[in-house]
Amino acid sequence: MLRAADWIPLTHTGLQRRENEDAVLAQPPVFVVADGMGGAQAGEVASRIAVDAFAEGLPERGSPEERLAAVALTANRRIYELSRTESERAGMGTTLTAAYLGENDLAIAHVGDSRAYLFRDGSLTRLTQDHSLMAELIRRGKLTEEEAADHPQRSIITRALGPEPQVTVDTWTYPVRAGDVILMCSDGLTSMISEAQVTEILRTYTGVEAAAQALIDEANRAGGRDNITVILVRLEEVGSAAGSDQPTVVAAAGVPAPGPATDATGVAVATPPRPARPAPLARSHRGPGDSGAAPPPRRRGRRYSRSAAALLATLIVLFLFGSGGWLATRQLFFIGTNSQGLVTIYRGLPYNLVAGVRLYEIFYESGVPASTLAPPERGRLLNHDLRSQANAQNLVNDLELGKVQQ
Ligand code: CA
Repeated sequence: MLRAADWIPLTHTGLQRRENEDAVLAQPPVFVVADGMGGAQAGEVASRIAVDAFAEGLPERGSPEERLAAVALTANRRIYELSRTESERAGMGTTLTAAYLGENDLAIAHVGDSRAYLFRDGSLTRLTQDHSLMAELIRRGKLTEEEAADHPQRSIITRALGPEPQVTVDTWTYPVRAGDVILMCSDGLTSMISEAQVTEILRTYTGVEAAAQALIDEANRAGGRDNITVILVRLEEVGSAAGSDQPTVVAAAGVPAPGPATDATGVAVATPPRPARPAPLARSHRGPGDSGAAPPPRRRGRRYSRSAAALLATLIVLFLFGSGGWLATRQLFFIGTNSQGLVTIYRGLPYNLVAGVRLYEIFYESGVPASTLAPPERGRLLNHDLRSQANAQNLVNDLELGKVQQ
């Protein structure tokens, strides 16, 4: 059976933000990173609510994935309710990456673009799939990981806890073993330094504390543009006879070689002579209501390329989004007309990229022809202004009930 041998939660405001909107919890066997957004004391409230929900403990019943997802949904509800009752908190949200260490596996619940990684035998494997505009474009083959890494809009996320009454939580379970190191982090780490740099640091530093500090230092050295949060957990095997609370050396627990080397403190984040590819990880289960998005990326490198011209066009349009990077594009709505000229609610952003990417989809088609609207109402409704779901639905609802001048 596994347990957390050494762990550390570490968070830093970074060099350019005044507040730290990240929140972190390391309460073995539960570990949580939340990256709040919404500005002006809203983001830190949202991330704190999420972490506090996990600090209260998981429900008794269900699989670890179900228990994690249940708490995530509770947090979503609490954040959403607070954002509705306090105007200064309107629209606040948070990412969530939560993990539960079981006897032989790690369950993860995930929303947003914070991440969990597995560091094993000197190699790093990402365990979560970002819910972000960049990830979406990468999935569609419109951007490469490298191109996305430096992208000014890389912090736009497409799913968060809080902005909507409902949220889909992705969950997975991965087999883990002694000597593995789990890394969980906010995008303040991964947007500043590459996975190759993360890997190098985890190979170099032999204790979780030193490694976590080195990761944060490196992100700050790269500019520290965002809050940086890191959890590192090193796993060890404990036998049934092990009544000791003392951290044990990994290799002494019957783990087949090559086990990571250990330093004087028994902490192992060391490098085997030649990094091996991590064993394939099975995704065993998806969370409630998940629509079956692709499994988390396990590949490295690039599978797609695209023309520089198309990329440039993409970048230009993405720049138009402005710097409100936290906005969840799939949770934005606008009103327009469909191909039959009927008033229609769209979800997303009212942009077509020349590369054939539409940043919106039809959410609801009314039965009202736009041609029946008086010109002022047409201008007021069909202007592609970004709206909340409720606002768009109320307007179109009024239209259908004849409350709008036609
Ligand atoms: Ca962040």
